[in-house]
Amino acid sequence: MTEHPKIILDRILSPARVCYQCSTCAGGCPVFCNNPEMNPRLIIEKLILGQVEEVLTSSYIWNCGFCLICTQRCPQGVDLAHILVDLKNLSVKRGNTPVGVLDEMKTLYLTGLTQESSKTVLNRRKKLNLPEIQYPDLSEIQKIMDVSGFNDLLKLNLRKEETSEPL
Ligand code: SF4
Ligand code: SF4
Repeated sequence: MTEHPKIILDRILSPARVCYQCSTCAGGCPVFCNNPEMNPRLIIEKLILGQVEEVLTSSYIWNCGFCLICTQRCPQGVDLAHILVDLKNLSVKRGNTPVGVLDEMKTLYLTGLTQESSKTVLNRRKKLNLPEIQYPDLSEIQKIMDVSGFNDLLKLNLRKEETSEPL
């Protein structure tokens, strides 16, 4: 059973309001250091200013690595890392999943892994005498995906991808 989008939106916007834009989150964010597009302070500012749609259709929210530094350092106790998780969840519910993430969702459903090992990796493991990769029980994983609503979200995003205009 997936959460209603309004509940998620309320959970995002209420804590964001106490942010006083000190930029401590951005200062410690390892992603922002290398990619100025992914600015956690700016994301919060946009949410406070009501520019939620812009944030939800952006690709930069997907660059957060969930390292939790922003959450640990925010003097106002804004749990930015989890706000970003909620933003991604809302984005998926609207069919806005970026292509790379959608590919991972597909692979996860078909193989139980987010990424299949390449031949090069498998050969290298063999040369290094590493044990064979253990694959998870796919039927169990697919059952969880069906009952949790993951499968419906995957279909929704695939339909949206098929009907979207080429860039
Ligand atoms: S550290 Fe907290 S208060 Fe400062 S800008 Fe980031 S979210 Fe806002
Ligand atoms: S959790 Fe995300 S936004 Fe926060 S510091 Fe880490 S990468 Fe940056």
